[in-house]
Amino acid sequence: MPSANSEVLAGDVGDFDAVVVGAGFAGLYALHKLRDQLGLSVCVYEAGGEVGGTWYWNRYPGARCDIESYCYSYSFSDELQQEWEWSERFAGQPEIRRYLNHVADKFDLRRDIQFDTRVISATYHEERSVWEVCTDQDHRVRAQFLVCGTGNLSAPKVPDFHGLDSFAGQLYCTSSWPHQEVDFTDQRVGVIGTGSSGIQVIPEIAQQAAQLTVFQRTPNYATPLGNGAMDPEFQRYIKQNYGTIRARSRMNNTGVPYDERVQPSALDADPDDRRRTYEARWTEGGFRFLKDAYSDLLIDKDANETAAAFIRDKIRQQVQDPKVAEQLVPDTYPYGTKRPPLETNYYRTFNRDNVTLVDLRSTPLLRIVESGVETSETVYELDSIVLATGFDAMTGPLLRMGVRGRSGLSLGRCWENGPRTNLGLMVDGFPNLFVITGPQSPSVLYNMPLAIEDHVDWISDCIRYLRERSVKTIEPSAESVAEWVSHTNEIANATLMSMAHSWYTGDNIPGKPRAFMVYLGGAPRYRQICDDIAAAGYRGFILDGAASAAERDT
Ligand SMILES: Cc1cc2nc3c(=O)[nH]c(=O)nc-3n(C[C@H](O)[C@H](O)[C@H](O)COP(=O)(O)OP(=O)(O)OC[C@H]3O[C@@H](n4cnc5c(N)ncnc54)[C@H](O)[C@@H]3O)c2cc1C
Repeated sequence: MPSANSEVLAGDVGDFDAVVVGAGFAGLYALHKLRDQLGLSVCVYEAGGEVGGTWYWNRYPGARCDIESYCYSYSFSDELQQEWEWSERFAGQPEIRRYLNHVADKFDLRRDIQFDTRVISATYHEERSVWEVCTDQDHRVRAQFLVCGTGNLSAPKVPDFHGLDSFAGQLYCTSSWPHQEVDFTDQRVGVIGTGSSGIQVIPEIAQQAAQLTVFQRTPNYATPLGNGAMDPEFQRYIKQNYGTIRARSRMNNTGVPYDERVQPSALDADPDDRRRTYEARWTEGGFRFLKDAYSDLLIDKDANETAAAFIRDKIRQQVQDPKVAEQLVPDTYPYGTKRPPLETNYYRTFNRDNVTLVDLRSTPLLRIVESGVETSETVYELDSIVLATGFDAMTGPLLRMGVRGRSGLSLGRCWENGPRTNLGLMVDGFPNLFVITGPQSPSVLYNMPLAIEDHVDWISDCIRYLRERSVKTIEPSAESVAEWVSHTNEIANATLMSMAHSWYTGDNIPGKPRAFMVYLGGAPRYRQICDDIAAAGYRGFILDGAASAAERDT
């Protein structure tokens, strides 16, 4: 069996059973599953210099997960679960990166990963039923299966500010932070962007910089993270009960073992009880405020408003200057319809003497100049600018990879009006191309390691099924894709989720077609649908150019 590191040298053509792109949570588990459990020859390409994906690139101060670490981790190996100790309730980036390095060591994964190597094209050759994959290091390999673990939030949004290149100071981007420590002491720093990453990095930089200017376009509804040291007693409890905890997590729409205390409607609740419920969830932290209070917050505008109003009051209580508080208060979209950030000292940071908020809605950013940031009001002189401007989410990493399916059709052309998949896993016209946590799957609205495990297990079972029957190709029928797209849209349209301009809908990228890109029917229901389709001989899929067994039978 060829090994990626030993045999695929620049310019060589290697033949593999599967090429996996990406070495984050998804690519690592896919390699382990396909190589060690299915016995395939696998070659992994990773643009970064090490394993980790998100946690390799996003090294900015304050970067951490906001799903509890004992949940935001792999469940596939009990030995791994038992041996790893989390030091905090929500681990920081260095600890998650250490964890993924530990996984790579434990399962001997690095030997099949080519680092610092970006896939620049992937072309399906119909006559041989193989994918040919080319990289920026001049590798060219062929494989029957192409598995994309390219991530949902791995293609940074390139901001289109005029004059960005003219800035004479240091420019940083949260999603590709330098490997060496950045020291902002005595500096005038500007942070552009107040999404999840901005909200994490701002309190950290404020403690170091001489002056921090925060440029905000849209205020966010941030609720407390509630981080702290991991209680050893709790860690012991988790380890003793991991099986049950994971099973409960998988039955929860967010992929966490929240108690079943969620009440049907915020509107039916007595106002005092409701306030007490919100206060309790606020104090508990994590996603409990959004996910563990009332089940109609993302469905009913009036119900949502009860939560939104509660958060607005909390912001006003934390920020001393009423004018600054009003600028931080969101009021143009419902709570939870943009990715809800979780904060640690974010609002209180604006009480510091060295922190200034610039509201770009009233004084728009005109351009970046040599000395700093120019708004319609003034020029802010800066030594460093930090861009926390987000990602070309969900479809960006796939569309940047130069994928061409049957008849040379590019994925970009196929998705010119928005992504079209069956289950978020496969695309018609692109046989044997699997996407891990692709658009139109629960993905970013679910605990991602579990979402990734569910998908990799499904893909691996599917490949096993094909091999046992000597079937060479699988792809979804055009009808099944049309049905899935319409099903996901129908569910999204029954919620408030499309009401905000967000990366969930592609609105943050100029020219990107507007489409809600996440399956909102809930992970348990979604998993059942995936399992049922597999059990029915891949209903809705075409095997070797013929309809699946189930469809032939009906
Ligand atoms: C700051 C931050 C915090 C987050 N916190 C949470 C959280 O608390 N809970 C949660 O569930 N999710 C969170 N996420 C989402 C996070 O992305 C996922 O949880 C998870 O890390 C995704 O793993 P992945 O392997 O699918 O993708 P990634 O970790 O993004 O890895 C994809 C890899 O593919 C590589 N790649 C892409 N294209 C190519 C190419 N063409 N050639 C070669 N390599 C390529 C990239 O370099 C990258 O390393 C967070 C994301 C960010 C950015």
